[in-house]
Amino acid sequence: MTGGAPRYPLEGVVSWNMNTTCNFRCSYCTQRFVDDRKKWAKDLPAFIQGFVALPGDWEVKLSGGEPFRHPGFVDAVQQLADGGLRVSVVSNFSASREQLEGFARATQDKPGVFSASLHLEWVETEAFFEKARWFQEIFAGRFCVTLVATQENWPRIAELREMWPELKLQPEKQDRDVVAYSPAQRLQLKAWGGHNGSGQIEPDLSGRACWAGSRYFIVDHLGEAYRCYPARRYRKEYLGNILDGSLSLGFEAALCTYSYCNCTVPQQRGMVRLGD
Ligand code: SF4
Ligand code: SF4
Repeated sequence: MTGGAPRYPLEGVVSWNMNTTCNFRCSYCTQRFVDDRKKWAKDLPAFIQGFVALPGDWEVKLSGGEPFRHPGFVDAVQQLADGGLRVSVVSNFSASREQLEGFARATQDKPGVFSASLHLEWVETEAFFEKARWFQEIFAGRFCVTLVATQENWPRIAELREMWPELKLQPEKQDRDVVAYSPAQRLQLKAWGGHNGSGQIEPDLSGRACWAGSRYFIVDHLGEAYRCYPARRYRKEYLGNILDGSLSLGFEAALCTYSYCNCTVPQQRGMVRLGD
């Protein structure tokens, strides 16, 4: 690709939404209108084979729903790790300590990121942070805590940032777009780090070269693959299916055509330039 493209990412990342099932029902959940929240990836061996066969080094970032609710979750993590893949997860952190120990054990040789979402409607904060401190001790990878900056959560954010200084915030979305924060709130949200520490609230990266589609992509519980989340939203840049052999990745960075990038991975792994 032309000048301006970030360097070739040595490790690719695939976000795998392996199930829609979740044991929580957050009022602000972006998936709350999904018709069927009982779907999960069935043919795990075929998925794992597909991920292991990806060319070069890859990380698989597991999410759902709540991925720990997938009946084969820890086994799948172990098999992905055995296949040489780095494994990360986005979770509501409600899994048992036994399951969490299983995850930490399976990923200890090549750990990824454990992103624990704090959902105040469902958990007690002291207990959450106590469990978080325990998990940090046994997990070899990077552990982070995120919170959706809803209007209900807003009055508690300062206090929560004192309890967990590295707390990352995510803007609330309605119908996939960021809600209307007041100008003062937008300033405050940026001062707190913006979306997952990016410094921005709804980054517009259109026109920039991005490695999504080549070194990043997303897969759902049926194996359907798209360049990134906005691509799936608009049903563009379909990459095929990882289960039937039709997956086709690009070889270069390509220009972004979306006015709102809500994809944390390409932003945080240097696959697209964030700053001016
Ligand atoms: S834990 Fe996550 S997936 Fe589950 S209901 Fe809450 S926001 Fe949605
Ligand atoms: S929306 Fe984000 S991840 Fe998708 S192509 Fe644009 S910059 Fe890359």
